[in-house]
Amino acid sequence: MTPSQALLVKAVFKATTWGTFGLTHVPPLRKAVVGAWRRRLRAGAAVPDARAPRAVAEDKLLMGLAIVRLVERALAEGRLTSASARALLGPLIHDSIVQGADRGPKRGFQDRHGAGPPDFLTISPTRTCNLSCVGCYASSSPTPEKLDWPTFERVVTEAHELWGTRFFVLSGGEPFAYRDQGRSVLDLAERHPDCFFLMYTNGTLIDDRLARRLGELGNLSPAISVEGLREPTDARRGHGVFDRALEAMVRLRREKVLFGLSLTATSDNCGEILSDELVDTLFDGMGALYAWVFHYMPIGRAPSLDLMMTAGQRVRLWERVWSLVRDRQLFIVDFWNSGAASHGCLAAARAGGYLYVDWNGAVCPCVFVPYSPVNVRDVFASGGTLDDVWREPFFAGIRDWQRRYGYREWGERYENGGNWLMPCIYRDHHAEFCSLVERHRPRPADESARVAQEDPDYHRRLVAFGRELAERTEATWTSRYRAGGEPKASAPGPAATSGRERSES
Ligand code: SF4
Repeated sequence: MTPSQALLVKAVFKATTWGTFGLTHVPPLRKAVVGAWRRRLRAGAAVPDARAPRAVAEDKLLMGLAIVRLVERALAEGRLTSASARALLGPLIHDSIVQGADRGPKRGFQDRHGAGPPDFLTISPTRTCNLSCVGCYASSSPTPEKLDWPTFERVVTEAHELWGTRFFVLSGGEPFAYRDQGRSVLDLAERHPDCFFLMYTNGTLIDDRLARRLGELGNLSPAISVEGLREPTDARRGHGVFDRALEAMVRLRREKVLFGLSLTATSDNCGEILSDELVDTLFDGMGALYAWVFHYMPIGRAPSLDLMMTAGQRVRLWERVWSLVRDRQLFIVDFWNSGAASHGCLAAARAGGYLYVDWNGAVCPCVFVPYSPVNVRDVFASGGTLDDVWREPFFAGIRDWQRRYGYREWGERYENGGNWLMPCIYRDHHAEFCSLVERHRPRPADESARVAQEDPDYHRRLVAFGRELAERTEATWTSRYRAGGEPKASAPGPAATSGRERSES
């Protein structure tokens, strides 16, 4: 960075501090800025994006408005501190001022590979966990399996420098339990102040000291895992866990930490996972600002196809998620049911997508696909880089499938793509996934994955699931998205504009 660039960044950071103060303490200023932001989003949504069917822009607008509401609420409650504002703006400042949009690592990646880089990485630095939840996707337990600090740190640094990645997701195991060479995830966040870290945690290790440290850092946001309210959470996670999660939320709110929720929907709890009572209690009452909804996947500890939501349950959850995003302007992302907004599957490091690195260094297409063609430790040991990981034929095969299924990069045009209401190659298009495994022979990342691979009944049931999901979603996909038409008045979908949204526009 040249001295003049450093001065400019300093000035922007200073302006951020004063701007955050003003937006927090001067309500008319906040209202004006937020109103302008909303108007800008609406204007942007009116501009056609050739990469996706027209209705996808409406989904993205609703998501955008929910983010504006999140920021507005965080400001009004004094929870967007100068530290967290800087952490959120850091990537923007870095990309637009220090590197220049066209000269940064993203452009370098494009030149090297002829494709855009992934936007983020998910890393599980440790398998160890202080809980033992039913159906844990990671089969976590008290175990020494962990990523050594030099590899952990190098993956983040290299993704930052080679791919322009500024957003990292930390999962586990319990990431707060990670220690290697005296380092923790807090040290990682501290060493990368221009990156933002979202972290899934059970919340039980967040004491006063840890919450205070998170408030000072500002660039690590915990998403606390619950299964609903007290009863389902304790049933899956252990007695008393829900109350400990609530205690963590109280501490985080006191220390002005931006935090949210991580919810796993199963066939048992999907009817209540986003109940009005849960939303009132955890969003309005406890101060959660966002939620990620995951569907139970039949991987990890004792995988059960019966715990997976049925196709009908999944469609009802789609309706519920979008009604909350639209009517209450809550930033809730359902990893699968928001598939149209993300232009389909994000796996295998497609442009704007991600890769997953586990505690052994095994790299998988995503968190929910436990098959790995390569280990990042081996790549580094043989003098390679993350670019070599990206080139793996198994990942390239998934990216090819994503393109056949409709994904397009900037400057390209969407034509005759597949149904993004069922975006998942692993669960919704299992036969396609199996043929890629057959061709590329990635290694199962754990014993459950190995057993599942050899179980014909497992494959048969997943293929049948995909068929039923296609039947249940095709009409909506065709009428609302493919044909660019609106859903019928009674049909589910995010298109209708609520009274609340109209009143705020
Ligand atoms: S493979 Fe499935 S779970 Fe993984 S990113 Fe794609 S849609 Fe999501």
